[in-house]
Amino acid sequence: MRARSEYAEPYRIKVVEPIRLPSRARREEVLREAGYNVFNIPSQEVYIDLLTDSGTSAMSDNQWAGLMMGDEAYAGSRNFFHLQETVRELFGFRYVLPTHQGRGAENILTTTLVKPGDRVLGNMHFDTTEGHIRLKGGEPVNLVIREGYETATRHPFKGNIDTERLLGEIRRYGRERIPFINITVTCNSNGGQPVSMANIREVSRIAREHGIRVFFDAARFAENAYFIKEREEGYAHKTIAEISREMFSYADGCTMSAKKDALVNIGGLFATNDEDLYRKAGQWGIVYEGFLTYGGLAGRDLEAMARGLREVIDETYLEDRIGQVAYLGSRLIEEGIPIIEPTGGHGVYVDVKRFLPHLPQSVFPAQAVICELYLEAGVRAVELGAAAFGRTDEKTGEQIFPKLELVRLAIPRRVYTDRHMDVVARALAAVAKRKDRIRGMKLVYEAPVLRHFTARFEPL
Ligand SMILES: *Cc1c(COP(=O)(O)O)cnc(C)c1O
Repeated sequence: MRARSEYAEPYRIKVVEPIRLPSRARREEVLREAGYNVFNIPSQEVYIDLLTDSGTSAMSDNQWAGLMMGDEAYAGSRNFFHLQETVRELFGFRYVLPTHQGRGAENILTTTLVKPGDRVLGNMHFDTTEGHIRLKGGEPVNLVIREGYETATRHPFKGNIDTERLLGEIRRYGRERIPFINITVTCNSNGGQPVSMANIREVSRIAREHGIRVFFDAARFAENAYFIKEREEGYAHKTIAEISREMFSYADGCTMSAKKDALVNIGGLFATNDEDLYRKAGQWGIVYEGFLTYGGLAGRDLEAMARGLREVIDETYLEDRIGQVAYLGSRLIEEGIPIIEPTGGHGVYVDVKRFLPHLPQSVFPAQAVICELYLEAGVRAVELGAAAFGRTDEKTGEQIFPKLELVRLAIPRRVYTDRHMDVVARALAAVAKRKDRIRGMKLVYEAPVLRHFTARFEPL
């Protein structure tokens, strides 16, 4: 990757969307009304929105033009065939089911394969994947390497699966209780960290040896491929298309949120080469998503998705994208803010255990930081810590906390400039100056699954 100063964005801006910073008094009021949960803040009250990179990409002129080519037939839309052809070429999977978004694909996969008592192994399952596995009575098991939890350890592939632990799980529970292994590329939950080709190959070899299927959660497959090209020996001269194809060759199929690396605002897909699985999943798809060739999407959405999948494997795009994430990361490091290093694909993750060492996870320190960031500069980030991944044990009523306590600054694709990144860095630096006065939050309402989306808090 070239230094950020050596190149400019590989696009020019054709349409602008005005944004504005609400007054400090207004921000205080908004936050209070939102129950100190930034998911409840109207986006009009946000200046720079780094809540997520999901569905927030700017589409290209070519994608917008594709919307006009939507064939809105209920069955057999030409845009479906374009998408299918694209997935076949880029991923090498024959059977494609579009879904309304990634979780739709997760739902049909887990409904098809997971039964009560099963264990679904993976590096780190994303929250919606965890939710779907649990709702089918299964247990999501995270087997990421030790370095994947160590925010200060530099390792090129912190999304890798610990193959010793993988083998231990397989020996202990057997293939009967392990319906599949789910490799999330890149690994969202620990910082958008990539998985190496060597690890994918090894996990796939172990899985095949034991007759267990492997799926990818492919939301950010192109970002993962770019990291393989940058960091893994033997891939520097391969194209992103070649690297992606090799990655997918080790899997039996994938689920994908198209809201990430398909550069669209809505959509997802399930793909596989297994005809029997496709048939079964398709039945659930029809019930939950829609007919096999539209899956809850308009024809125009399928077209934008097909076009986006081709754009995302452009290396100059990926260099700029991942370069911007690295740029924000370096600005925060300059300000002395502890982040996960090296920075990953889609955002910068602040390590709140190191940032606010005086606060225990029981007072939701990362939640407190995102509130402070909004108050400071109208910047919206997301909590990935005690609120998102902690839960109340059904039997004991005890709080179970995740290992990591993070604030994620997710960067939408092709949306903000580096000057927006500078504003974010200055805001966090200002929060850091008064961090000793941050006391944490109290959870006053929680839903039984995916509680962070609707939870309400009060400041302590
Ligand atoms: C976003 C995401 C999902 C869920 O996809 P949606 O489109 O939001 O339903 C699943 N896995 C990963 C890794 C994701 O980032």
